[in-house]
Amino acid sequence: MTDHPLTVTLDPYALARELSGKHLINGALVPAASGKTFDVVNPAKGEVVGQAAFGEAADVEAAVAAAAKAQKEWAKRPARERGKLVAACGQALLAHVEEIARLITLETGKALRTESRVEAGVLSDSFTFYGGLAPELKGETVPFSPTVMTITQREPIGVVGAIIPWNVPLLLMALKIAPALVAGNAVVVKSAEEAPFAVLRVCQILNTILPPGLFNMLSGMGPECGAPLVTHPKVGKVTFTGSVETGRIVYKAAAEKLIPVTLELGGKSPMIVMGDADLDKAVAGAVVGMRFTRQGQSCTAASRIFVHSSIHDEFVSRLKAKVDAMVMGDPLDEKTDIGTIVSPGQFEKVKAYIEQGRKEGGTAHACSAMPTAEALGRGLYVQPVIFTGLTNHSRLAREEIFGPVTCVIRFDDYEDAINQANDTEYGLAATIWTNDLKKAMDATQRLEAGLVQVNQNLVVQPNISYGGVKTSGLGKEASLEAMLEHFTHKKTIMINMA
Ligand code: ADP
Repeated sequence: MTDHPLTVTLDPYALARELSGKHLINGALVPAASGKTFDVVNPAKGEVVGQAAFGEAADVEAAVAAAAKAQKEWAKRPARERGKLVAACGQALLAHVEEIARLITLETGKALRTESRVEAGVLSDSFTFYGGLAPELKGETVPFSPTVMTITQREPIGVVGAIIPWNVPLLLMALKIAPALVAGNAVVVKSAEEAPFAVLRVCQILNTILPPGLFNMLSGMGPECGAPLVTHPKVGKVTFTGSVETGRIVYKAAAEKLIPVTLELGGKSPMIVMGDADLDKAVAGAVVGMRFTRQGQSCTAASRIFVHSSIHDEFVSRLKAKVDAMVMGDPLDEKTDIGTIVSPGQFEKVKAYIEQGRKEGGTAHACSAMPTAEALGRGLYVQPVIFTGLTNHSRLAREEIFGPVTCVIRFDDYEDAINQANDTEYGLAATIWTNDLKKAMDATQRLEAGLVQVNQNLVVQPNISYGGVKTSGLGKEASLEAMLEHFTHKKTIMINMA
């Protein structure tokens, strides 16, 4: 913990260099025990911008030991005091929004204006929100017997391991660590290999306010760094966001230790547009829902859009026009709406899916102009694609692409649309667009998803419970419920007064 706020550094390249080769353990920026690092690449230019510390079991050991020690003292503090410090983190982060936004853009290729600034703002808001919820860590009085006073209280779990992905690392980190800390836990975060620096910068800022060791951050690969964090005997809870495949591995490892997990996994979110829908609103909702500004790299991406036959062609042409009008280019440029794909592996995967969609007989409507050859360079730009002519059984409609590719599927019958929307292994989010109140209400009851919205497509909010059903995950994030249910144990105390 330092008494001095950090200087804001708006040059993301300089900041990436400054943060290179470091974890944050026990309040200090330290290299990996092995001294090993790996390259971090700016996907908009294909250039190496720094090296991240390559975390392994020895680093996990040091971080967990520091966390376990700090947690004991932290848990003794009154909840409101903890809350005030976490809320102060929100304020401190506010002063760094621009800096953090530029850094996350550098490492992920997300557009600064439309994506990164928004994310950095919500990051700060999440700390402020959870800081204020500290007094809600209440227990209950149970009417067991007049002579046996029976109460429950919420106790922290201890050390929480938080594993995050690269698409919205700051927001997803905040929704894990802010409630965990307010509830009295200590945290060890493992960042995604593609995006370690902005997360590390945030941890450095938190470290100016929170006690050393309470909050530790490791960078590294899944098997070498994430896996030992999950299996560490002193980690009492794991909260994970990532792919279904890795989620299963994490769940199995946690099962061996019999510890609780929260898993936020993939999605293939349906959007149903009825014939009577307000078309302008539905088209705008599809652009937001599909996260075109983030190149579709979102678990809630509206990647299956079921549109009533009567408006199908009009919907597709308006959606295409809207995405065409978006500017794809240098993610740090203020004019840019859409940046790049995060990594070469993801880039190839998205292109393979587009090819697959063509093979399966779909028509690919490519939108938005590619940057000029000069601006393009080695940047991982992909034109957003709207597919028509594919069915809900095609691979593109069944598998999570995590890229700017959506399928617009025609339907005639409402029942059929609901059945197709539910015919997926996922269940994260869903929307319906209609002015028919009965149908809207009916759909909210029948769509199999953790979040169902009518005539809107809002992104994740700190006070709205978020999490999926089916293979989309286990448990909820955000909201008071997440803090109480997922970051505390409930202890029952019985006092016999007879
Ligand atoms: P993606 O395909 O989006 O990169 P992953 O599920 O592979 O999704 O990664 C999400 C996070 O999980 C990353 O921080 C990654 O390093 C981590 N991870 C990957 N494999 C493992 C593992 N075996 N154990 C724990 N964490 C892992």
